[in-house]
Amino acid sequence: MMSDYISKSFLALLVFTVSSFAQATKPVAIRAGRLFDPGSGRLVTDQIVIIRGERIVEVGPAGGVAIPSGAELIDLRQATVLPGMIDAHTHLFLTGESGGRYDEQLLKESWQYRTIEAVVNAKKDLEAGFTTLRDLETEGAMYSDVDVRNAINRGLIPGPRLQVSTRALSTTGGYPLEGYSPEVLVPSGVEIVDSPWAARQAVREQIKYGADVIKVYSTHRFRFTPDGHLDSVPTFTLEELQAIVDEAHRQHVKVACHAYSGVGLRNGIEAGVDSVEHGLELDDTSLQEMVRKGIYLVPTLYVYEVEPEGDLRATEGKTSRARIHEESFRRALASGVKIAFGTDVGPFPHGTQAKEFEYMVRFGMTPAQALCSATQRAAELMGWQDRVGSLERSKFADVIAVSGDPLSDITELERVKFVMKGGVVVKNDLK
Ligand SMILES: [Zn+2]
Repeated sequence: MMSDYISKSFLALLVFTVSSFAQATKPVAIRAGRLFDPGSGRLVTDQIVIIRGERIVEVGPAGGVAIPSGAELIDLRQATVLPGMIDAHTHLFLTGESGGRYDEQLLKESWQYRTIEAVVNAKKDLEAGFTTLRDLETEGAMYSDVDVRNAINRGLIPGPRLQVSTRALSTTGGYPLEGYSPEVLVPSGVEIVDSPWAARQAVREQIKYGADVIKVYSTHRFRFTPDGHLDSVPTFTLEELQAIVDEAHRQHVKVACHAYSGVGLRNGIEAGVDSVEHGLELDDTSLQEMVRKGIYLVPTLYVYEVEPEGDLRATEGKTSRARIHEESFRRALASGVKIAFGTDVGPFPHGTQAKEFEYMVRFGMTPAQALCSATQRAAELMGWQDRVGSLERSKFADVIAVSGDPLSDITELERVKFVMKGGVVVKNDLK
């Protein structure tokens, strides 16, 4: 009986394996009217992309690439085909935090409920053309991002490829929830640690439970000075930040550092973080150091444009983080620092973050530069340049398409019509 059962299940497994293998290896050929090459920043016309399983096996001009017999043809001859986009700063566990909802999410929603929201958000981002995300902390939902990542990787749910940071780190007084009485115990949006050794222990713990990247806050509170600058208060000391970076790097894990300006920003750069997130008021010395050390900037422009009312009230209409950030971005661009696309999506709705491109271009980037930042550049920041970020042989078949020409109208990226991840079509409105 037992052996019968075993042989039957073995046979079933064999049939399943053979049929899924056959299915997986049925080649796919995409005919691209125009195809974006992040290496040159140019569109090439009339291309063929051949896909087997989840990988690209060949790309080249129609006529120069043989379409394998029996291949499934996807006709995108009227479209512009691009590598799947990468958002290097997301919050899957935030669903419209503004208007006081941040506290409500942490106080009234279970980690399970918030994980369900994150699953829905992941699908929205994917369908908007973001096939890879670097998700920078769960905002109090502990290690739930690891489960979302694993469920996507195992094919349980649809979603982008994820690098997750789990809990993130800040100091006592360095992150919400804030403003409650000392006798009321409230949760924190990040893991609070003080001292280099406590910070090391937290990094070890986060990596142990699945963090792909460490997120650290080197600044938190801020105010506007009377002459219209940002005064942002540092959190960790240099010694603490050095401990965090050293601990992460010795485990080959990168560090993303939230920093607005000032001492906290400079300490993060000195400690050798891998990316500065936001960088609202980057001074020339900081930019030079970032260039010298190869530290990336992930600017997240759009999130500050969404609701500037509070900033304008605080400065009697004089300035806002958005306006200070615009100048900082222009300086960063002129400095030659590496800029990776990231949006901070979560406070504003998932799936709408391609709006970021408009601001990058408005503030001085060419559309090609903006596209490179959301493909090749972001892939390099994540250490995934061997698998995503361009349409080349042996990379994942993460492919998107838009109807028009994004190099002449960057807002085309807000209307992604075709999405494929790992050789599987997620959506096709171009049929
Ligand atoms: Zn963020």
